[in-house]
Amino acid sequence: MNMPYKQLSSGIDVPILGLGTWQLQGATCVEVIKKAFAIGYRHFDTAAIYKNHEAVAEGLAGKPRGDIFLVSKLWHEEHHPDLVEPALDRALKELKTDYLDLYLVHWPKQKAHFPEVMYEMEKMRKKGKIRSMGTCNATIHHMQDVLNQGLDIPVNQVELHPFFQQEELAKFCRIKAIAITAYSPLARGAVLESPVLQKLAEKHGKTAGQIALAWCLKNNYIVIPKATSEKHLQENFAASSLHLSQSDMDEIRAIDEDRRLILPDFAEFDY
Ligand code: NAP
Repeated sequence: MNMPYKQLSSGIDVPILGLGTWQLQGATCVEVIKKAFAIGYRHFDTAAIYKNHEAVAEGLAGKPRGDIFLVSKLWHEEHHPDLVEPALDRALKELKTDYLDLYLVHWPKQKAHFPEVMYEMEKMRKKGKIRSMGTCNATIHHMQDVLNQGLDIPVNQVELHPFFQQEELAKFCRIKAIAITAYSPLARGAVLESPVLQKLAEKHGKTAGQIALAWCLKNNYIVIPKATSEKHLQENFAASSLHLSQSDMDEIRAIDEDRRLILPDFAEFDY
């Protein structure tokens, strides 16, 4: 099965379900990437801080570059206009490619000139080193600062799952045509324990994880579940063809708990 695409405001097509690679390392990472590609995954999400660029590259070696949608991220310690291009060049070298499909600011740092970093990313796009830029973990305020500079934000990658639905941020993104990539869409495995998702899973003959992913996709979010085993990779990939009804969606909407899982001390979620 070919994964459907979503078009970003920058005109770039993104496979709507990709593979998250945080905490995949070394030989395991290489094997997971190979298995995922064989299943049909074409969208791979990594970051400088995951320290697995080389393993991702090894897993993708020999595959046609044009078939792959490759995402990486600029770590917050390199949030200075002068550091963007060197960091990107290092990522390209490690990933053995001459461009990224998407380059994201991993954690906005308002005080460290976030809009200027985005402006530098736009220069990288014009140079052809990235096809599109975007943010991760940007609040409405962060996004507004960037938009106020006349810059586009094709994607904001944020934590989003049935326990943390981020409706206000999602509404802002919808109005501004900013696509959302939902990270930790399985709530790092916690969605499997939800009685509501389990009940819907039984109704559809699927798993609770697949229901959570299908819920993200039905909301028009891109999703990047991380998985290691062949079984999990297959299951997650197949979630893209599961269709939930409006009443299923309403039931899931009711289990939002505003439960954020990823909260490092340098986050600026109160900005
Ligand atoms: P996640 O995808 O919500 O959950 C991953 C966990 O769920 C793993 O323990 C995995 O186990 C398990 N799992 C996967 N598929 C399963 C299935 N079908 N059934 C049961 N369990 C399953 O968590 P995440 O890794 O935090 O998020 C996904 C990706 O988002 C990351 O890998 C990363 O690429 C990105 N991310 C970005 C940021 C950011 O700041 N931008 C932050 C966090 C994450 P196995 O591995 O054993 O299969």
